[in-house]
Amino acid sequence: MPTSLVTGGAGFIGSHVAAELLRAGHQVVVLDDLSGGVRPNVPEGAVFHQGDICDQALVDALFAEWRFDYVYHLAAYAAEGLSHFIKRFNYTNNVIGSINLINAAVNTGTVRCFVFTSSIAVYGHAEPPMTEELTPAPVDPYGIAKYAVEQELKVTHEMFGLPYIVFRPHNVYGERQNIGDRYRNVVGIFMNQILRGEPCTIFGDGEQTRAFSYIDDVAIPIARSVENPGIYGETFNIGGDTAYTVNELATAVFEAMGAPPAVDHLPPRHEVAHAYADHKKAHALLSLNPHSVPLATGLAAMAAWARQHGPQSPSVFSGIEIARNMPPSWQALVVPEEPGAVTD
Ligand code: NAD
Repeated sequence: MPTSLVTGGAGFIGSHVAAELLRAGHQVVVLDDLSGGVRPNVPEGAVFHQGDICDQALVDALFAEWRFDYVYHLAAYAAEGLSHFIKRFNYTNNVIGSINLINAAVNTGTVRCFVFTSSIAVYGHAEPPMTEELTPAPVDPYGIAKYAVEQELKVTHEMFGLPYIVFRPHNVYGERQNIGDRYRNVVGIFMNQILRGEPCTIFGDGEQTRAFSYIDDVAIPIARSVENPGIYGETFNIGGDTAYTVNELATAVFEAMGAPPAVDHLPPRHEVAHAYADHKKAHALLSLNPHSVPLATGLAAMAAWARQHGPQSPSVFSGIEIARNMPPSWQALVVPEEPGAVTD
């Protein structure tokens, strides 16, 4: 039975990856500091360690104890738009934390594949649909951090032979998503606003486009990827194929939630206007479901879960490092406290 570490396994995508690994017969160890995830997300049958990937001693001890066969690294703070204003926290959590895991994987010597969840944020302003052949040019600290870890895995493989696979998902939604984080997860934000009886807030005119990915179209291929050593060393875009404007998304979410449309347009924020990816490579090399889950089907499943889960009080990120040029709706909430502390 292979033993796999899932970092961020109390979060959204990580908990689904952990569940799929358990179904595939892995022993699963979850490491998560519960900064963005919750304990009930961890699937039954997984061993849970509450801790921070930035805690090098803890990471080293965990690798020494479990001698992992596979590492699925999903722990990160994935608030792309906020990352400009929390650069130090972003690079510490998302780069240094990743380096602790890579070092431990090399030093332990048992890891057969290190699976890293990057993002299409690495492509920045590239013309969509973005393909894996493009040279990444991220335009925000979150994307820069993801690309830095991708590059680290490449040189670590060249220097020490650590096998790896990189996935670049985009706009993933589904059951167990954190719907109470006001800085990320647009589908979750809309559903939470509807549950709270508030209008859905859209930055700018809402004509920016994104392709939305149902969780099963992302978590299952990530979990199963290690079974095919022929794809080690490869990088894959993964997720939904069809691009929608944010206005179209809002309409689809109102339908899924059975709610009357109510939208509040906020001033535009600094963001990539059009971001969606090409998935030909994933379809050619991974055993993917040939038809990704349609938006209406995925939203209906998530809406049923969200109604049962109930409204969440939106969190505020305290420890903002730069408040200048923040969207006014975020600036009004700035609390200079400990980095990463999230309060209701
Ligand atoms: P999530 O917040 O639900 O899950 C991340 C988990 O990591 C959380 O449970 C959080 O508590 C944990 N975590 C964060 N920092 C940690 C630390 N220092 N130590 C230990 N645990 C820590 O987010 P998600 O949407 O499930 O994202 C999972 C991964 O997928 C992330 O790496 C993210 O960058 C990437 N990703 C997500 C999307 C998306 O649309 N959701 C798109 C592209 C890439």
